[in-house]
Amino acid sequence: KSKPKVGYVYQEIQEKKYIYEIMGPVVSVENNISVYDTILQMFAKDVGTIFIVEGENLVGIVSRKDLLKIAIGKTDITKVPINVVMTRMPNIVYCEENDDIVDAVKKIIVHQVDSLPVVRLKEDNGKNIYQLVGRFTKTNITKLFLENVVK
Ligand code: ADP
Repeated sequence: KSKPKVGYVYQEIQEKKYIYEIMGPVVSVENNISVYDTILQMFAKDVGTIFIVEGENLVGIVSRKDLLKIAIGKTDITKVPINVVMTRMPNIVYCEENDDIVDAVKKIIVHQVDSLPVVRLKEDNGKNIYQLVGRFTKTNITKLFLENVVK
């Protein structure tokens, strides 16, 4: 029995799949909420990364380790707003709904992150808006790999 080749998996993913087909739902909190409440949201929503928004606009991202780092210090995390500790634009690595999955996977590897926000780029009075529409994670990639190797 011959094993499926990795090249074949790559081809399947590259030819057939776009981000919108496998992305997950948005998990976000507002810009001014506390670090403490963001940690509660991380448990409640069972995710490892939370996106920070101002309305529909993506402004930041926090990972488990960002939250651990601030939580082990002497700071009162019920008083610190999440925007103090988040990674912010223009440093956020993102993808769009119609992007090729392989390109997004490369971004995750090159930038050494667990997930990418999926955004729609808009303009509002000359200001760039990153409307948050989903999230693309290492779990999405793992599922896709399993589907294409096993089936
Ligand atoms: P962890 O820190 O829990 O291992 P990540 O590897 O995803 O999780 O995050 C590493 C760092 O990169 C964190 O400081 C986080 O804020 C930041 N980060 C996470 N995802 C992104 C992204 N898509 N774009 C830019 N920075 C990110």
